[in-house]
Amino acid sequence: MPTAAPIGQRTTVDRPDDSDLPQIHLVYALASDGVDRFFDTNGAIKTSVESVRYWFRTQSSGLDLRWDTYNGELDVTFFRLGSTEKSVTALGAYVRDVLEQELKAAGGIQGSKQYMVFYDGASTYACGGGAWPPLLYGVVGAMYLKGLPDGPVPCDSNTLGASPTTPGYLDIAMLHEFVHSLGLTPTCAPNQHSSGHVSDSPNDLMWAGDAPWDLPPKLDIGNDDYFRHGNPDCPDLANVGYIDPLPADYWLPPGVSR
Ligand SMILES: [Zn+2]
Repeated sequence: MPTAAPIGQRTTVDRPDDSDLPQIHLVYALASDGVDRFFDTNGAIKTSVESVRYWFRTQSSGLDLRWDTYNGELDVTFFRLGSTEKSVTALGAYVRDVLEQELKAAGGIQGSKQYMVFYDGASTYACGGGAWPPLLYGVVGAMYLKGLPDGPVPCDSNTLGASPTTPGYLDIAMLHEFVHSLGLTPTCAPNQHSSGHVSDSPNDLMWAGDAPWDLPPKLDIGNDDYFRHGNPDCPDLANVGYIDPLPADYWLPPGVSR
C-alpha cells in the first residue's frame, strides 16, 4: 500500500480508512480556476466539523456521527474540478450535482460513504445544496462557500470553522445539507414541507420558510419529524448507519448499499 500523506498535508486521494462502517468523508473542492484558501490543511474544515460534532452531541444527548478518519484524525481530501468556476456557477441550482458527477468520475465516491463537500466557489442560487433520496439520489451534500456574492448576505460573510464549540452558519448548514442527503426530512414526517424541510419552527436544523433561520438551531423540535420521533415506519436520523455508535438496526439512504 502506498504511503498516505500525513494528516495536515494536502492529499487528492482518500487515505486508508480506520473503519469499514458507513462514514462521512470530507472534501475541499475548487473549480479548475478557483482561488485556493487551503481550508483542507489550515484547520478551517477541521474546526468546522468539531463545532458540528459538539452541537450534535449536545442536541442528541451524546451521539456522534462517524467520520472518515486516518490514524484517528479527520481525513480531508482536496479535489480540483475540471470545470471552471464560471461554468459551475452557470448551472444555477445544479452546482451540487456537478460536484457529485465530477467527484464520481474521478473515482472519489466509495462504498457506503456520504460526502460533505466544501466547494470554495460561487453560486447564484444558494449557499449549499443536498440530495434528497429517493426523489433526488446522491451522496454529496455541499456548501458553496462563495455563494450569493451579489445577495443581501453573501455566504462568505460568515467564517467557516470560527469556533470548535459554536457552529456558525456555514458549519451548521453543512450538517443541514448532509441530513437532506440521507433523505430527511422524509415525506412521512408530519411537518415536512418544501422538499425535505420542516415547517414547525425557524429554530429547527431543517427549517425552511418565510422567516429567517434562527441560529444556532435545535435538532427536530418536538421530536416529531426526523429525530427520535418514535414512528417505526418513518426513517429516523437516530438510527441511520452514520451514527456512532452504530445503531442495532441501522438503515442507509435509498441508493446506498452496505
Ligand atoms: Zn434545506
